[in-house]
Amino acid sequence: MITKRNLVFLGAPGAGKGTIAQILSEKEGLVHISTGDIFRNEIKNETELGKKARHYVTTGGLVPDDLVAEMVASRLAEGDCATGFILDGFPRTLPQADLFETALEKIGRKIDLVVLFNAGEELLLKRLTARIICKQCGSNFNKIFMPPEKEGICDKCGGELYQRTDDSLETAKERLEIYNKQTAPLVGYYKEKGLLAEVDGSLGKDSTTPLVMEVVS
Ligand code: AMP
Repeated sequence: MITKRNLVFLGAPGAGKGTIAQILSEKEGLVHISTGDIFRNEIKNETELGKKARHYVTTGGLVPDDLVAEMVASRLAEGDCATGFILDGFPRTLPQADLFETALEKIGRKIDLVVLFNAGEELLLKRLTARIICKQCGSNFNKIFMPPEKEGICDKCGGELYQRTDDSLETAKERLEIYNKQTAPLVGYYKEKGLLAEVDGSLGKDSTTPLVMEVVS
């Protein structure tokens, strides 16, 4: 049983946050909240939020802070998050981190730990451009590093696998640049608060999962 149950996973796109969050949430009953997955769903379902987010998500830009913060706050207020959550892809800017802290205070909760996944840019680009995702359940695979048993088919639910349009080389590079400019300052922000733990995200899920288990235990 892990002791730190209110978690933020921080790291560049492709650093392994989503893959490990999925493993940990299944193992430990934490709710995996991927803001990227929520946006992709809203866009697919053509909701109001989806319409507002579409342009940013498809071009690799960031959705405006207030829109994201509001969405996360309302997701966290749902009952299933009471025993713990993993935020994957949020916060992504300093204003989002501040808005989030205020929202958590209001509901009497706090972050227990921020896990930073480290990985070099060359590997990140290789992973992103070979990544494939299940249309149905959102599970991540990778043509090079984590291929599914049957090509194009999800091992978990049999759904069809596809490549995200924002995982093209050009857009992936753009997203890494945005990460370095807008998200990387959160490392210092959470370090100062004494909340940061770092893990090597370059090793692959079998080696990185135990490292994460260690820091959240
Ligand atoms: P991800 O699946 O985490 O790579 O997110 C995909 C896209 O969703 C990002 O490139 C952004 O356009 C949008 N997005 C996800 N999370 C956030 C966030 N916290 N702030 C702003 N935009 C976000």
